[in-house]
Amino acid sequence: METRSDENRIIVVGAGVAGSHAALEAARNGSNVLLLEEHPQVGVPSHCSGVVSLKGLSLLGIEPQPGFTQRTIQGAVFHPPKGEPLELRTKQPVAVIINRAKFDQYVAKNAVATGVELHPKSRVSKFERYPDGKVGVSVQDGPTFKGSIVVDASGAGSRLPEQAGLQTPDWTQLLPGLQYELGETPKQGDLVELFFGSHRAPGFFAWSIPTGDHSARVGLASKKSNVKRLLDDLVKEFWPKSTVEGTKSGSVLVSGPIDKCWSENFLVVGDAASQVKQTTGGGIIIGGYSGILAGRAASNAAKTPQEGRWKILMQYDRDWRDKFSSDLRRMGIAHKLFASLSDETLNKLFEGVREYLPEIQEYADMDFQGEIISRMLRKKKFVALLPRVAVDSIRAVFT
Ligand SMILES: Cc1cc2nc3c(=O)[nH]c(=O)nc-3n(C[C@H](O)[C@H](O)[C@H](O)COP(=O)(O)OP(=O)(O)OC[C@H]3O[C@@H](n4cnc5c(N)ncnc54)[C@H](O)[C@@H]3O)c2cc1C
Repeated sequence: METRSDENRIIVVGAGVAGSHAALEAARNGSNVLLLEEHPQVGVPSHCSGVVSLKGLSLLGIEPQPGFTQRTIQGAVFHPPKGEPLELRTKQPVAVIINRAKFDQYVAKNAVATGVELHPKSRVSKFERYPDGKVGVSVQDGPTFKGSIVVDASGAGSRLPEQAGLQTPDWTQLLPGLQYELGETPKQGDLVELFFGSHRAPGFFAWSIPTGDHSARVGLASKKSNVKRLLDDLVKEFWPKSTVEGTKSGSVLVSGPIDKCWSENFLVVGDAASQVKQTTGGGIIIGGYSGILAGRAASNAAKTPQEGRWKILMQYDRDWRDKFSSDLRRMGIAHKLFASLSDETLNKLFEGVREYLPEIQEYADMDFQGEIISRMLRKKKFVALLPRVAVDSIRAVFT
């Protein structure tokens, strides 16, 4: 196959939120950037629910726009396994629901407008290193592209990090997820709804996200594999008169990020590095922001002689961890504990939460959940529940 070489080129694999942000930032920094996407159309198919915080969007330097914004969100309703739902409403909108396909297309379009060369229908099958210090990727049934730095942003399941000498995330820790686009739903307003319990979504949760006045994205992820039956049961219980207008499946990452996200002339970012909140499976903001950092590092490294590059690439790994890893660590612990809880303990936890709603409203942050997790763990009511949590965790390990 033909090899196309360009001395200082940055090659980004995957035009999702992480890849397009990396490509855009590298191009803004003056680099020659190639963005390879396996599908004919960026953003399609989409597996995502599209909930992003307004703060997170502004971290990416993006304002909500009619082109991709479906709805603004002002809080959430939590349905414990049993008993009264709990409503958390904020004074101001906190999040937006985005159409993920249109959002990804928006970012990729900006990248192209900044000079990025986008190649759709280009599935990368292999990462390569050359004796002259260059790196490259082979496109299945296509050319091999050679350049200075490869940024892998090809999402969950990527094998490129392994080929570049890095550990891959623990892909066995993917939770199967399924989502329906429902029509003819009763009005849900501006709150997302979250459903908990072993009969609904063991080990994780189910969600309903309003996308219009009478439409919603309803889905769940679970540690058990019977997600279709669970989702059908949920729909029957809460939206018996709705119509299923689309189905999406996807896997939610809960393994936590890999230990090292760079090797010689190679960076990995987004889901491919498992840069995802384990509590919710959300990765748009972390992946997008880390993409910006990766693009900047790749571009600066490409302008630097080989022997000095490693410092710049390693700094990317430090920078994204400085921003997110303390929160990710606490979210990881919270997820592991939460996944092991019995319905009875969960009911008690939700009861306990009621008392602290004003504090949660004040301190909760969708993207940086470490602060609120630490605060709640200091509350007497929660401390009193810890022996019960410990018993549930031990039981979960042995069953
Ligand atoms: C059911 C579900 C719901 C979710 N809901 C939310 C949510 O509400 N909010 C949130 O923040 N996060 C959510 N997430 C997580 C979020 O979707 C991901 O964290 C985010 O998409 C990661 O972005 P990425 O760019 O790293 O990967 P992706 O978005 O997966 O993009 C990877 C890109 O690489 C391309 N690609 C893959 N392999 C190759 C290859 N070999 N060669 C070339 N191109 C390739 C793909 O086609 C794709 O375009 C959800 C995930 C699931 C499964």
